Amino acid sequence: MSRFFKLTELEPYVPGEQPANVDQLIKLNTNENPYPPSPRALAAINEEELKKLRLYPSLDAKGLMEAIAVHYGVSTRQICICNSSDETLAFMYHGLCPEGAVFADLTYGFYPVFCHMFGIPYEEIPLREDFTLAVEDYAGKKGTVFITNPNAPTGLFLPLSEIRRLLEQDPNRLVVVDEAYIDFGGETAVPLLKEYDNLLITQTFSKSRALAGGRLGFVIGSEELANDMNTLKYSFNPYNVNRVTMLMGEQAMRDEDYFNKTRTAVMENREWTRQQLCELGFTVTDSRSNFLFAAAPGMSGKEYYAALRDRGILVRYFDKPRTKAYCRITIGTREQMEALLEATRDILKGV
Ligand SMILES: *Cc1c(COP(=O)(O)O)cnc(C)c1O
Repeated sequence: MSRFFKLTELEPYVPGEQPANVDQLIKLNTNENPYPPSPRALAAINEEELKKLRLYPSLDAKGLMEAIAVHYGVSTRQICICNSSDETLAFMYHGLCPEGAVFADLTYGFYPVFCHMFGIPYEEIPLREDFTLAVEDYAGKKGTVFITNPNAPTGLFLPLSEIRRLLEQDPNRLVVVDEAYIDFGGETAVPLLKEYDNLLITQTFSKSRALAGGRLGFVIGSEELANDMNTLKYSFNPYNVNRVTMLMGEQAMRDEDYFNKTRTAVMENREWTRQQLCELGFTVTDSRSNFLFAAAPGMSGKEYYAALRDRGILVRYFDKPRTKAYCRITIGTREQMEALLEATRDILKGV
């Protein structure tokens, strides 16, 4: 640390490993999509478009905004596009937590990091023993509530009836629903926006639209909240989405066939893998996301992680008391999941 550094208490988020020899590994550690972006997204980029990189991107992002609005059945005035869902969250923690923040003890690990970054007081509400979220535990809490739905790393989905209860606990408290994994079997809270103006939804192109490297996220909320997000964005980096990503994102959003085909394949692979792991004696949560949260029989999450790594397969484990039995396994292609199961059978022989 230099003597000029001001935020000496800052503890940065630790992303999953991004190894250089990724082609020699089976990478199931950061919930990326195993399939490439939509062919229509790839076709949107050509030399002409790349030459236009000398220009700043369009500020109204018309095509992309319209594609999102059509997909969700909302107005473009209810949307704010950002460089990633992480960026939308940064803006929210910075500008939309007047009374601090409230979130689960086991959820997206970036939330407390943002709080430290922006000096936001926060409270972590423990999930129940079975990792479910009990809405009544949030009654009377004043801070902006952040719900990852489906949750990470557990994969559990909170039904919309429960989101509705959260919204009704206090109409003057903002509830943010982080729907990074919603397209893998959950149900989006967007229709609730017609009834509640204390709801803000954040989404990303990184998971279900296979554009993690493009960095693209957005929020949907009331026109007032979308406006607030734009105020934050224009006070920080108005050109936060680059031209190439804007074009690819628009086509990825419009290509409903490819979107449905690939997310269905991920969900089918998930259910198949889950069943195979259960047959091997694993404890596996009922995930509605593109990963499984699984505890190997007779070994810790760390041991299973290390044994898989020795066999060229990368997963993630979280060294916290409540999660140390588990690993989070991203759903890959069927071939990748077969390799995971083969390695797992081999590992279990030694236990
Ligand atoms: C992946 C993820 C994000 C971040 O997505 P980016 O758009 O890639 O920044 C946000 N929230 C949750 C819960 C995630 O899993």
